[in-house]
Amino acid sequence: MLREGGLVAIATETVYGLAANALDEHAVARIFEAKARPFFDPLIVHIASRDWLNRLVSRVPAAAEKLAAAFWPGPLTMVLPKTDLVPDLVTSGLPSVAIRMPVHPQARELLQLVDLPLAAPSANPFGQLSPTCAQHVAETLGDRIDLILDGGPSQVGVESTVVFVTDDSVRILRHGGITREALERVVRVDDGATEVAETVAAPSPGMLPQHYAPRTSLKVLQDRAELADVSAQRIGALLLTVADNDPRFAAVEVLTTDGNLATAAANFFAALRRLDRQQVDVIVAYPFPDEGLGRALNDRLSRAAH
Ligand code: AMP
Ligand code: MG
Repeated sequence: MLREGGLVAIATETVYGLAANALDEHAVARIFEAKARPFFDPLIVHIASRDWLNRLVSRVPAAAEKLAAAFWPGPLTMVLPKTDLVPDLVTSGLPSVAIRMPVHPQARELLQLVDLPLAAPSANPFGQLSPTCAQHVAETLGDRIDLILDGGPSQVGVESTVVFVTDDSVRILRHGGITREALERVVRVDDGATEVAETVAAPSPGMLPQHYAPRTSLKVLQDRAELADVSAQRIGALLLTVADNDPRFAAVEVLTTDGNLATAAANFFAALRRLDRQQVDVIVAYPFPDEGLGRALNDRLSRAAH
């Protein structure tokens, strides 16, 4: 199916992806159509071998070599200068392409079998909650795509970390499955978005203020005291541990028993999806600790808020 230009939802360790042959512009166009994704939002290209990296990227800086050695296969996406082989549609006309090597065994086996780079954004309608199991994909895109490969629940549960790579450092474009702390053990992490804004022409929806959103309005409360300001009748709550529970909550999703942020990430999108179905007037959440995977979770929360 993929060789013939089909659209296949695939399991990865981050979230489920909607995959097509990255070298086939028609197939890639179908991804944008199925997701109703704006063409200015570039796609991540998934590969399983070093060989494909060399064909898709014109130069691999030293920092990229170190990052690949440390985090590939895994939830790290590197933005690197592209070759002419990569269609402009994939990169939204940018001179750089985002590349990732997933670690999920089914995704790896598929990539090796098909021996093509696969463009794959998250397998959900644009702007909505990301899918972390095959059922989520079936519910929202089932009638618009050719096949869903069920590879079990996504183990990481949040999207990949996206970094813009220069010779000896990176800038984080999107927080995700590889933490800032882990990156810092391997390369210098620069702050500030100025240079990125210059190099990345269009704003990336992963960076848009509203994204990853449930239908129900979601408010991020700074602390328990702010709950008093919420006037809604039926409140749903997304909680890190049961310690944050409150008698006012009509529906509760507790992400972990012990506050472990990797567990919270793995449960995050599915829990929000369940709350979204509970007929509550508002969903409230508290910020996660601002460290490790908590950064990616806080990023998703702030964009889901509306
Ligand atoms: P996803 O929606 O998970 O497919 O993530 C795609 C995100 O990766 C985009 O919204 C951008 O934030 C980022 N991205 C992809 N390609 C590029 C690129 N060529 N340059 C900069 N950022 C990119
Ligand atoms: Mg997405």
